[in-house]
Amino acid sequence: MSKDKKLEFFTEDNRTLEIITKSPQETKAIAKVFARLLVPSDIICLDGDLGAGKTFFTSNIAKELDISKVVPSPTFTILIEHRDGKIPLFHFDAYRLENEDEFYDLGFGEYLYDNGICVVEWASRIKNVFPNTVIQIHMLRDNFEDSDTRKLIFSFPKSDNRFYDFEKGVNDLNDHPSK
Ligand code: ADP
Ligand code: MG
Repeated sequence: MSKDKKLEFFTEDNRTLEIITKSPQETKAIAKVFARLLVPSDIICLDGDLGAGKTFFTSNIAKELDISKVVPSPTFTILIEHRDGKIPLFHFDAYRLENEDEFYDLGFGEYLYDNGICVVEWASRIKNVFPNTVIQIHMLRDNFEDSDTRKLIFSFPKSDNRFYDFEKGVNDLNDHPSK
């Protein structure tokens, strides 16, 4: 069982926001608010428990980018590219990668600088490939009795003022839950 542990990397100078969600719908609404802040070349690092919602969260980012196809899990292919939306989305799953060398050997390094949005599940497995400007999201499931409750911990670099827009957007959801 995973503890309520801290984010895995780049933690010192970050601003964090913890959110409890009680349903997939609530997580979807948060993903929408988050996705609206994204711009080309952003890198989003996802970690946390199996089944916590990393792929689900990414699929809702994709919807907000007007990507029309379903977003399957890239666990077996490591990367799935979605180029039919407003911004290209490069969806990685590092679960099956041994280490950073393997990531580079497979030619994935260039995607980090290719003007798309990279979302990387199990990013902490290859943490040394990332610049310190990434936004990290830690998703926890195992410490809750209720099967639909999750804790999402968002961690933005201190230099990234989108943190405040995100915080405001999430607060607005709480004030107007039907929006
Ligand atoms: P991961 O990629 O982290 O292994 P998935 O996204 O594949 O996990 O699966 C998460 C599952 O949990 C989905 O089936 C989703 O519907 C379900 N779920 C239940 N409650 C929540 C919640 N509050 N937030 C996100 N997903 C939830
Ligand atoms: Mg997944």
